[in-house]
Amino acid sequence: MKELANAIGVSHPAFKELIRRDVLRRAFVRHPFFSDVFEAYRLDRKVGEFEEGTLIAKTVEGVEVVRGFPKIKRALTLYPTIRRHFDGSVAIEEKMNGYNVRVVKFGKNLYAITRGGLICPYTTEKVRMLFDHTFFNDHPNLMLCCEAVGEESPYVPHKLYGDRIDFYVFDVRDKRTNEPLKIVEKERICDEYGFKMAKIFDVVDAKNAHEVVRDVVERIGREGREGVVIKDVEMREPPIKYTTSQANCSDLSYGFRYFGEYGKDFLFSRLIREGFQSWEFLEDDKAMMERALRIGKAILLSMVESIKEVKSGKKIYESCRLRFYDLEVLELFKEHVRRLGVNAKFSEPKKDGNSYVVYYMKYMKSTTDTIKHILEGNLWS
Ligand code: ATP
Ligand code: MG
Repeated sequence: MKELANAIGVSHPAFKELIRRDVLRRAFVRHPFFSDVFEAYRLDRKVGEFEEGTLIAKTVEGVEVVRGFPKIKRALTLYPTIRRHFDGSVAIEEKMNGYNVRVVKFGKNLYAITRGGLICPYTTEKVRMLFDHTFFNDHPNLMLCCEAVGEESPYVPHKLYGDRIDFYVFDVRDKRTNEPLKIVEKERICDEYGFKMAKIFDVVDAKNAHEVVRDVVERIGREGREGVVIKDVEMREPPIKYTTSQANCSDLSYGFRYFGEYGKDFLFSRLIREGFQSWEFLEDDKAMMERALRIGKAILLSMVESIKEVKSGKKIYESCRLRFYDLEVLELFKEHVRRLGVNAKFSEPKKDGNSYVVYYMKYMKSTTDTIKHILEGNLWS
């Protein structure tokens, strides 16, 4: 444990104290599938220069530190925000709606680390099938920061990106320092090693970017895409994110369907985004009414659906289809989500070619109980 403490520049007692205070938490379930890792912790919040989600692992090749993916700040208005934050050229990239995965190589195998710094068995199994080792052997100091997208996703399932799960690189960084490569270098690497990359819609001068971003956002919104991340092509300035109205509404719909589980902040912030976008896009009455209807539908329809379900005697579950190639990984994943504190059940695996399909159902207890309580005639305090 001393070596792990050293790796993040704290004393051994201080490290133990961080564990006691739950700032440092276990990052994986020990298993032969993770045979290159002996011990691993993740930071639950920022400590010194180390971001939340940083992983500190004792591996067969010594101690590894994989820095947490930095938070991306959000713009609520495009003008003057973009030109205030950047000068020179910016890349307008697609913000894909999945979950953040850092892919690294420890010892002989690849590992997939999710946002909070956990090594995820489900994601690791897929990463090992989809990425070969060449890139990691050529660049042992680099990690691939990817968005894991698609329907068969345990965390953020979306049909828009295909019916399986796939990985799109959006940053290439030094895993130890978090230093990002420039956009052109990232493009070169993705090209050379054949990685899919989050789409770059345009590269423009920051001064005119607001107009281009608006066009892109309106267009991709109609396709149901999430939004954009605006990045300094040199990656010297921190990027900024901005989302489409359709994505905000899809969050609202999701949040109200499971309103017991989702905080008021989650819902309120999406409504504020809509207010600023509607104002900035200088909408005429028709467009404004369309937006109002979209927001209203998002809030109401999904909530009524949940109420109907509980009224008919059902419990509220969020269900997603997963695919495993090894049943051991399924067992490992079950333990993984148990440790995450998710109240879930799994269907029996069903063989499908060389894999097994399993439904992962997350129980939304608070939403179910609240609705039930109200329908029984109790008062809302
Ligand atoms: P954050 O703390 O970064 O704000 P969040 O959970 O609130 O995290 P999001 O609102 O989804 O996340 O926005 C940031 C995330 O967007 C990144 O962590 C990354 O996973 C995802 N993302 C998708 N596409 C891109 C892209 N092209 N560039 C950077 N990040 C992207
Ligand atoms: Mg996201």
